[in-house]
Amino acid sequence: MSLDEYKRKRDFRRTPEPEPSETEPAHTHGGRFFVQRHDASHLHYDFRLELGGTLKSWAVPKGPSLDPAKKHFAAMVEDHPLDYGDFEGNIPKGEYGGGSVMLWDRGVFEIIGEEDGLAQIARGDLKFRLHGEKLNGTWALVFMKNRGKGNEWLIIKKQDEAAQTDWDVEAFAWSVKTGRTQEEIAADLPARSEPKKKVPTSKRQHCRALSKHRCRASFLRWAHRSPKLFQKAKAGCMRSSGTACAPWRTSKTAH
Ligand code: MN
Repeated sequence: MSLDEYKRKRDFRRTPEPEPSETEPAHTHGGRFFVQRHDASHLHYDFRLELGGTLKSWAVPKGPSLDPAKKHFAAMVEDHPLDYGDFEGNIPKGEYGGGSVMLWDRGVFEIIGEEDGLAQIARGDLKFRLHGEKLNGTWALVFMKNRGKGNEWLIIKKQDEAAQTDWDVEAFAWSVKTGRTQEEIAADLPARSEPKKKVPTSKRQHCRALSKHRCRASFLRWAHRSPKLFQKAKAGCMRSSGTACAPWRTSKTAH
């Protein structure tokens, strides 16, 4: 995977965006994922999956939706460096993508199926499961053949327990990193000490209330920082000591 286009478009003396380092191991069956809300010439969401040592990236004008009926257009854009995932801040006006960038969601994902993620992208049909702070469940990115530029995809929520009808992406417009709104980021205001809103995730609350163990859902919230921890987390539930306990149950009953 090449980051040449990413580098070519940017002047790292002028933008606070990270310069690629290309030193991280290349995961192909899962890893970290990030979604940024980017108020550039047009407001859009940038959806990024860690695959093959870079962030495979799509610009989604309407944002991802938990509603399976909403198949939103996603333009595949150039690969971004892994360090870009955590980026939040302001790209100077006049630079490529000038405007404010919010870290809107983050977490980890697993590729569904035997075939690795890069092969699924090459085939134009990528299936994965997200474990994020706002986005969860099974998803697909599907390439639309015979369109204009050849970078036209759809991002689709599959029907499962994380699916929600009439879900509004704009009702979640705060940063998972700093709790700030887009306007607060644009004005360079400091991070909020308290997140603006708590994500109503019943599964996470169950775990916190009912177990001394880190359940898989809450474990994954911080495992995204470390691919090694992510591999451990995939095996099941974790005690805070790091040893595995009972396998994660997907039902709503606590464990
Ligand atoms: Mn963007």
